[in-house]
Amino acid sequence: MLRLIRTGEAVTRAELGRATGLSRPAVQLRVGELLERGLVVERTDAPSTGGRPPVRLEFNASGGVVLVAALGASRTRVAVCDLAGVELAGREFAMDVEAGPDVVLPLLMDTWEELLGDRPRSMIRGVGMGVPATVEFAEGRTESARVMATWTGVVIPPIIRERFPVPVLVDNDVNVLAIGEHRGIYPDLSDLMFVKVSTRIGAGVIAGGGILRGALGAAGEIGHIPVKDGGGVLCRCGNTDCVDSVASGTALLRDLRALGKDVKTIADVTALVRAGDAETMATVREAGRRIGEVLAGAVNILNPAVVVLGGDVAEAFGPLVSSIREVVYRRSTALATRRLRIEPSRLGAGAGISGCAVMVLDHVLSPEAVDESMSVTSLRAEDLTPRPVG
Ligand SMILES: [Zn+2]
Repeated sequence: MLRLIRTGEAVTRAELGRATGLSRPAVQLRVGELLERGLVVERTDAPSTGGRPPVRLEFNASGGVVLVAALGASRTRVAVCDLAGVELAGREFAMDVEAGPDVVLPLLMDTWEELLGDRPRSMIRGVGMGVPATVEFAEGRTESARVMATWTGVVIPPIIRERFPVPVLVDNDVNVLAIGEHRGIYPDLSDLMFVKVSTRIGAGVIAGGGILRGALGAAGEIGHIPVKDGGGVLCRCGNTDCVDSVASGTALLRDLRALGKDVKTIADVTALVRAGDAETMATVREAGRRIGEVLAGAVNILNPAVVVLGGDVAEAFGPLVSSIREVVYRRSTALATRRLRIEPSRLGAGAGISGCAVMVLDHVLSPEAVDESMSVTSLRAEDLTPRPVG
């Protein structure tokens, strides 16, 4: 019923009855609980000329909040959002995630407390987090595949639940970016791949309308696919010539320094590209070709409608994006690229926060979670037996 009300498919008690096939008392009882929980509110339209107008039910986005945090290797965004995913209060700050969970998690929770202000804590419905590491999704357990070695094996949800006893969902940073960009910009497409080129390279895959996590949550780890003729560069994962080790932001800085360039950050590289430095341009283009090579394979397997390129490196470099495009269109199969769009991220860093909000809201507003949070046991069995419709 909540879903029908949220989507506007059924907004009166009579419509709910018709749509669900439930008896009037059952609809009444159920709507009563949703009203009591603050998940829906009643609205009465201005009286028309004939008779009493029906009471409309509306999803109450301000009936609760979710706490969200998008952790990056160096920057973190923390926010409190309403039940429609709209940010009510937020803060961005520099934080070294490598400082470990004992430092980072209390800081996050303190920040949420501050952002909540005087909102009652009973309004908190859930917590959603994106972290720059592979996450065994069901458990919220982090692995050390990319960064965050200090977090290896840490199960995040129980730590958060000690202070905020609500459902806690944790996924890797690229998956939440993919979810955010998909829901915010491409809600009508069911197959999308979000590729983040930043300090590290990773991808989040939306397949058939939902995030593809794989058996344990490691789907989309394209950073550790090897490239051809990479020159034997040792990757932090232990293999050689992973695309991450030859074409990430970290690799770009290393290669440019080896060429004698004075570059400390991606911004320094951007400045050289703007100045038209030929060696820098060539290095950036080469990185784009390497990434394109790996993406061409991924496009063949997944056949996405759109590949979104995000992350500070992709955002900074036109030449990188054009080399990626060129290689993907040349190397992927004709059918996979017939309608393929390769686009820069439109939400930018904001995709992380909205993705975390969508992830946790989809969970806490799901029929299963709403049932569990309400006293469904108070319903009598006969109230829940659908009667024939029509
Ligand atoms: Zn690797």
